[in-house]
This record gives sequence, C-alpha cells and structure tokens, in this order.
Amino acid sequence: MYGWAGQRLRVDLTKGAIIKEPLDYEYRRKWLGGRGFNSEVIYREVPPEVDAFDPENRVCFGVGPISGTAAPSTGRVTVSCKSPLTDGLGDSNMGGHWGAELKYAGYDQIVVQGRAKKPVYIWVDDDKVEIRDASRIWGKYPREADTMIKEELGDEDIHIVLIGPGGENMVRFACTLNDVYRAAGRTGTGGVIGSKNLKGIAVRGTGGVKIAKPKEFYEVCNRLREKFKTDPMRAGLWNYGSLCLINVANRDGWLPVNNMQFGAHPNANNFSGESHRATVSKGKEGCFACPICCGQFTVIKEGKWAGEYFGGPEYEHAVPTGPRVGIGFGDDVNDVWHNARLTNDFGLDGIETGGVISWAMECYQRGILTKKDTGGLELEWGNEEVVEKLIHQIAYREGFGAILAEGACKAIKKLGLPKEAEYYTLTTRGMTLPGDDPRGLGFGYGLSFSMGTRGGEDHLRSLCCLELSGFLYPGLNTKIIGCEDPAKPTTTVGKPYMVYYEENQKGSTDCLEVCCFTTHWSYAVLTEDQVEYLNACTGLDFTVEEFQEIGERLINIERAYWAKHLSGKREDIVPDRFTKEPMPKTVPYQTNEGATLPLDRMLPTYYVYRDYDPETGFPSERKLKQLGLENVAKDLKPYREKYKAMGKKAGK
Ligand code: SF4
Repeated sequence: MYGWAGQRLRVDLTKGAIIKEPLDYEYRRKWLGGRGFNSEVIYREVPPEVDAFDPENRVCFGVGPISGTAAPSTGRVTVSCKSPLTDGLGDSNMGGHWGAELKYAGYDQIVVQGRAKKPVYIWVDDDKVEIRDASRIWGKYPREADTMIKEELGDEDIHIVLIGPGGENMVRFACTLNDVYRAAGRTGTGGVIGSKNLKGIAVRGTGGVKIAKPKEFYEVCNRLREKFKTDPMRAGLWNYGSLCLINVANRDGWLPVNNMQFGAHPNANNFSGESHRATVSKGKEGCFACPICCGQFTVIKEGKWAGEYFGGPEYEHAVPTGPRVGIGFGDDVNDVWHNARLTNDFGLDGIETGGVISWAMECYQRGILTKKDTGGLELEWGNEEVVEKLIHQIAYREGFGAILAEGACKAIKKLGLPKEAEYYTLTTRGMTLPGDDPRGLGFGYGLSFSMGTRGGEDHLRSLCCLELSGFLYPGLNTKIIGCEDPAKPTTTVGKPYMVYYEENQKGSTDCLEVCCFTTHWSYAVLTEDQVEYLNACTGLDFTVEEFQEIGERLINIERAYWAKHLSGKREDIVPDRFTKEPMPKTVPYQTNEGATLPLDRMLPTYYVYRDYDPETGFPSERKLKQLGLENVAKDLKPYREKYKAMGKKAGK
C-alpha cells in the first residue's frame, strides 16, 4: 500500500484494550483520511443520545494519505469528537509535527473511547502501544508535561498531544495542543479528552511513507515549493504570521472591538504584526514541511509580564482576549500577549475564552449582568485585572468563571438570564464566531457562519479566501466562479457558489491534512495540484471531480450528524448584530461604514447548490444517495419527520 499506513489504532480506556483495525481500499477511497475518517467514525459510533462527557463519546485523531511527506505543509491533524460546547459535531485542526510522527508510527487514525480510572497518557512507540500512569503530570501546563514525559521516556525528539488544566477540568471549550504551542482550539476537544482521564498521547514513529511514483511526486512537490517563493500571500504570513491581518482588518472594519460593537480602532496598530515584530517577536516556528512558516515566537521584554514567552500568537489567538474585550489600545499591549500566553498554558480555546468574556462584558454594559452575578467583578471593557482573573477562573472552574466555562449559551440558562442576553452571544449552533466581522471581511464568510457544520466557523474551516485574498490572484475568481466580482467582500454576487465550493474544497484538504494556508489563503497549491501529488503518492487515479466530491460527501455526513440532533434550517442563522446593526465608522479610513450582512439574499441559492431539503434544511435523499450515503439517507427519515413536526408546533 502507498500513501496510507492502512490502519486505525483504537484505545479503549475503560477496558485497557488496544486494537488495530485495517482500513480497506473502498473506505480509504471514499473518506480519504483525516477529517473524513474522523467524521465518519463520529457519525457511526456516537449516537445523538450520548452526552459529550460520556465515556461512550470518541476522540479521533486523523491524518491523511500524504501526511509526513515532502508535499507542502503535511503535518496537520484533525481532532474530532461530539462537542461538549455545542452538543453536536466537534472538530478542530492543528499543525505541528505530531501528525507526521503518527504516520511514521504506522497509523492513519487513533480513536480513543471509554474512561480510565485514574489519569493516564498513551505511549505509541511504533507497533508498541501502552497506557501509562499520568498522576505525576496531571495538573501541569502542556509545556511542563511535555518536558516531563520526554524525560520519563528518555527521548526528547518524540511528539506529544496534551491538554492543559482547562481540559482536565472539563471546560467546555478546552483545546488540544501538540508540540506545546500548536492548538486544535475549537469545539472543546480538550474537555472530552479530560473527561476520559487522558492527559495526552506521546508518539515515536521510525517508519516512513511509501510513495508510489517517487520521481513524479518530488517533481510536483518541487514545482509547488518554487511557487511559494513568489506567492503574494506568503510574504505577509512569513514576516508577521496571521497578525499581518490586523491593519487590514482595521481598515476594512472587521476587527472585533468590544464584542464586535465596532469594527476598527485608531490604535489597532499597537498589536499589529509589524508592531509585534518590532517589540516582542523572537524568531519563528514552522510546522512540518511548511514553505510558509507563519508561526511566531513571543518574548515579552518589559513591564509586569517581562520574561514570559510562548509560541504565537496568531490573529485569532491575539484578538479574542485583546480588542474583543477592549484590551491593547493604550499602553496595555503586553496584556494582549500575556492573555494569549495564559490561554495557551491553561489549554483553552482563545476564541471562545474571549468570546464568552466579551459576551459577559456586553451584558454588564447593558445591565443584564451585575456585580451580584459576577461575584463582585466589574466587567468593564479593557479591565485587564478582571480579564486575567476570569481566564484563571474559567480554567479552574472557580467563581463566576465556573459559569463561563460552560460557554455563553449554557451560561444564560444557568444564570436564568432574559432572552435579551442571547443577542450578545455572537454564536452559531452554540459556538462563538471568530474575530472577523462579516460586515467587513465579506458576505461569503457571513453566509458560511450560518451554514458551518460545526457552528462558529472560522478561518481554518470555511473562510472564503476568494473574497479575502482573491484579489491577489487575478483570474482565479473567474476560473472558479465565472467573474471577478466575488473578490469584492461586500457584494452578494457569486457568494452562494463561493461558499459551496470553498466548504467542499476545504473538506477535501482537511482529509489530506495539509495546511489550508497553502491552498486557500495562498492559492499556490490549486485543486489540480492536490490531485497530482495525491495520485503520485498513492499510485491511484483520483480525478479533480472525485476529489471535490469527497469534500462534498464530508459536508453532507457532518450536516446529517446535526440533523440527527434536530438542527437544520431553523438554526441556519447568524447573530442579529450582523444583519440588523449597520457598521459604525470609528476611523476615518474605514471602508465599510453602514454595512449589514444580507444573509437572506444568499441562503436560498446556497441551498440549491447543496440540494438541501427546502423545508428542513437536511441533506436531500437524492443528494445522499448520489454521494454513496444510502445508509445516512435511511437514518435521517425519522429525524426529518420529527424536525418538521417540531416546526409546525412552533408555528414555523
Ligand atoms: S502555514 Fe503556518 S499553520 Fe500552516 S503549516 Fe505552515 S506554519 Fe503551520
């Protein structure tokens, strides 16, 4: 077999069982790898009645057929489970080197189920797999635990997936990290790992990846690597990481200031990539085989946080506990880096942490929350003392933070707040949206917010880069959508097809487990190139159409998983802030004054491209059968009827 390792490793922590399962040809061809394998397992093995923290939930780690090869950026890994934050499909994708190491150890996927009686970690040493005691490292930050495990195993070159205290305390938005700083941030995978008493998975792989046609494979890899040398998007990412977007976001009005009440601020340059580089940047850190190398390293040199260091931050790590909560606009810029360091060490999703704190701050601003609810904390914008305290409280489930650790939607219920509080959550399907306001970044992105198959979509999942960076690649929008108009962010022209296309394309890319910065943000690697290196690696004969259909199949099974949780058309919404509040102008050069998101003008056409049932929003039987998902079509029958009945009862 070429490309794939050909087997899944299953670890049952309740039984202490370690099982290796072959992945046959049809299965690999249908789901390809990574997110594809993971979503298929979650759909099949975790029924809707299983709670996310039940031992019966699964945590899957998936890599793809070209993982660990010389193709650009092949170190990604998708972590999937049923999400404790949304109670629906949860997954998140991370870089680093662990994914490649897993492949060298001889596995395409690890599935963990059950719950250990006491804290453990899994040690995968090629064929040999052990469940080991983790009592000594429980409670440690990932950076401490990483060192301790390497010392214990006597090998500092191994790669380790870990959770932090947030995951151990089952915070519903705890993240999973590898190589200490590379996070699968979203949907609470770290909380599910913690619920299994699992601290992490250490891997040593001494094998390789068999390439079917080495000459062709290295030719295409070299050709693509050459392209990166002149790629227009790569320069910004290389120099400043995704912080290169701060000043762009500020100009185009999509910086999330004070829970997205504003889209820009005169002092945003304080924490731009350029300022970061001039003040606290200390070298760079790239993921496996990456020609872009966007990772930054930060060392704070002055002030009360002097001496703190960490890998990062990137844009979505810096803005949630920075401008989203009103921090970074004065002489407090080091607080932005410090807060990002904290969420990293505690193993929390930065986006959700900033999201839930900024939601609470806006509720406080409007008198919905008072000091009586917050344990005496004054939740004022820009109050670093309070933000820092809340990050601690969330990670350890203490005080008001214990309620915020549930996420904003569940916190509203726990606190018994009025309906008005929902307005300020800025979530879809229960998960906070990232720090990019679609009234400025683009209407396509706004549409994808409403349709995302894990809620709260973000830059690694469905960001429509054809409207973000498409203008840097003249002719690309025309090639894919038919004209250049969709490159303009605030137009609806071509956006329904753009979202349909990018979701499918991103889905296939996640099955390959390559970084989407090589294939979407930058368009140095196009779909045809992906198919070329996939075929040279595996020796198979995928067509472009088949490759894209794999992405479409993935979106449909993920959408079907939500359908089984009775989530469909009525949940295809975005926060009213985007559709009803015209964007205010806060800097003279801002380009999107007065914009609102015209979701209703795009959604019906998107449904047509997807062939979703217009009444329920569920995938149609016809589409599911066309994609070879006859079993899913059958499964959905009772849920379809139930969802319709619920709508009738509610008068919708
Ligand atoms: S572009 Fe950045 S995130 Fe993507 S693989 Fe390279 S270093 Fe990692």
